[in-house]
Amino acid sequence: MGYQLERMTWPDAQQAIRSTQAVLFPTGSIEQHGKHLPLGTDYLIAKELANRVCANTDRIVVAPTIPVGFAEYHTDFAGTLSLSTETLGRAYLEPCESMMKYGVKRFVFLNGHGGNRASLTWAIRKLRDQGIIAASLQWFDICATLNKEWFIVGHADYLETSLMMAIAPASVRTDQFEAPQNKHLSNKLQVSGIGIASFRGIEVSMGLRTSDGTNSGLISERCPPEGSLAPTLEAASAALGEQILSAVTDYIIDFIESLEKVAFK
Ligand SMILES: [Zn+2]
Repeated sequence: MGYQLERMTWPDAQQAIRSTQAVLFPTGSIEQHGKHLPLGTDYLIAKELANRVCANTDRIVVAPTIPVGFAEYHTDFAGTLSLSTETLGRAYLEPCESMMKYGVKRFVFLNGHGGNRASLTWAIRKLRDQGIIAASLQWFDICATLNKEWFIVGHADYLETSLMMAIAPASVRTDQFEAPQNKHLSNKLQVSGIGIASFRGIEVSMGLRTSDGTNSGLISERCPPEGSLAPTLEAASAALGEQILSAVTDYIIDFIESLEKVAFK
């Protein structure tokens, strides 16, 4: 069992920092997830994984989940919150600098939202410049590598839906499962993911807004590798979500343990 920062007194925190190897910051987003998943999906998944990691290793202090991310491109759908990438980078870096005052030398960001990557990369480089070991892990990168069949096909897709069925089943609106009306930029230039178009099978980054490609916010069209058809929302299940949460938790614990052996000269 690890430690939850928000539940400790400061003397307990001081002791926990001394007896552990790293601080884990879950990073989420409050953003539209189609008509069937809650706005807090990315936040809730990151928080759940952090809780599971905490329950299964005593090597970690878990900080509170940073809720808001960079999601400006989703703001055509109500309720989405966003910080600029610059503000968000500082929101990741500065709490780490607080923890460094108490002797923390290793940080792991457990990220639930792809839009946070640029700010995480910036913060991690700043930490490295100060001799600090930091890394960010994305659950969707991990699961796609652990199992070829767990290939994320878009946004609010069957994988995210499965995880939410396992974490907070009452928040999943199965009555709102519907295929999105996809929009494309031209016959040859198709919207194939968040911010991404595809031309003759090659992905081109175009900074698209989510509403450029989908009427409902759901993106479920991107095909997995090797040509098989992308699973629809009907393929989602709590059992699949549980399998993914368990496998990703094991990976993260393994990563944290190997990070303990890293030292910069
Ligand atoms: Zn999401």
